[in-house]
Amino acid sequence: MMNRSGMVNIIRTRIRTDPFKNNYDLVGKELGRGKFAVVKKCVEKTTGKEHAAKFLRKRRKGQDCRGDVVHEIAVLESAEANPYVVALHEVYETPFEIILVLECAAGGEIFNQCVADNDEAFTEKDVIRLARQILMGVACLHRNNVVHLDLKPQNVLLTSAQPLGDIRIVDFGLSRRVDSTTEVREILGTPEYVAPEILNYEPISTATDMWSIGVLTYVMLTGESPFQGEEKQETFLNISQVNVDYSQDVFEGISDLAVDFIRSLLVKNPRKRATAEQCLNHPWLISEIHHTVDAPLDEQEASQSESEPESPVPSPELVMPLYLTCPGQGELKTGRDTFSFSESFPSRTEIQQELIC
Ligand code: ADP
Ligand code: MG
Repeated sequence: MMNRSGMVNIIRTRIRTDPFKNNYDLVGKELGRGKFAVVKKCVEKTTGKEHAAKFLRKRRKGQDCRGDVVHEIAVLESAEANPYVVALHEVYETPFEIILVLECAAGGEIFNQCVADNDEAFTEKDVIRLARQILMGVACLHRNNVVHLDLKPQNVLLTSAQPLGDIRIVDFGLSRRVDSTTEVREILGTPEYVAPEILNYEPISTATDMWSIGVLTYVMLTGESPFQGEEKQETFLNISQVNVDYSQDVFEGISDLAVDFIRSLLVKNPRKRATAEQCLNHPWLISEIHHTVDAPLDEQEASQSESEPESPVPSPELVMPLYLTCPGQGELKTGRDTFSFSESFPSRTEIQQELIC
């Protein structure tokens, strides 16, 4: 039986039961899909505004999963003031589904640029800007005791791809609330991004997300997945041994500071791993702050309200200490290869047997 701790079941969003199609037109093709959800672009009839509708089945594998969806809604609500978490607009319910009407992140998954050829791939400078945004978003979640637990390039989207926009973190389906009173131990995540403590069935903490950010940064910079093996078990072995290639072959043309940054995250002991706040102060992310802006800082500050009309807040990389404040948070604030204990993940003893030999 799965450990259900860390789930939140109180929401303030009114769940609508009138037909979604009365208020929205579906347009274009699918935006994406995961294990249990299909996401489609839609237009709100009254406003003409585009949104992303995430259709979630309430029953999965014969089990009632409405509670999981309610938890996802609760976490999105709690992150309402976090500019790097996708905004939740409305929720609809039908006998079989719950539909989350989300802000549309039109630039798609950062995954696409991670695996793109050279001319479309991220530059180190892009990665520095995007990594800072991911960290500001995640620092804010962590301050509110929320861990995402499925940070990977398919769950980090862009407001626009070209020109490269801002990031939006999506998919809180596996997220958990962690605090000092409840201990969450669960086996879930996505093989390539999962932290060693998950494989060992040790407690989950905010550090678990930091491991995934290390993997994510590695992939964004190099286009390679550091732990991926031929088979899942090989991937798990690479993770538990922290078998990472930092050689010049992989990191050609990438700064030593970037490598040092990743090294501070891919650390087996979760207590020794850098936190989101510490990462934001890492020299790699600080180094570019004054170089990434084209105009002098005062000019940028003066004009930023016009220059970034799409952003709900002034671009934080120009206003340095913004990440230190997490505006107006309440008390609380399945991806493609996602697995959970009850699904495809081998039992704990099986993994350990595999890992020992
Ligand atoms: P799942 O829990 O099934 O993995 P996600 O929330 O990750 O569901 O959504 C699946 C995919 O749909 C994402 O990887 C992304 O490609 C796309 N998607 C999700 N939310 C949005 C959004 N708000 N805007 C645009 N695309 C989205
Ligand atoms: Mg997903």
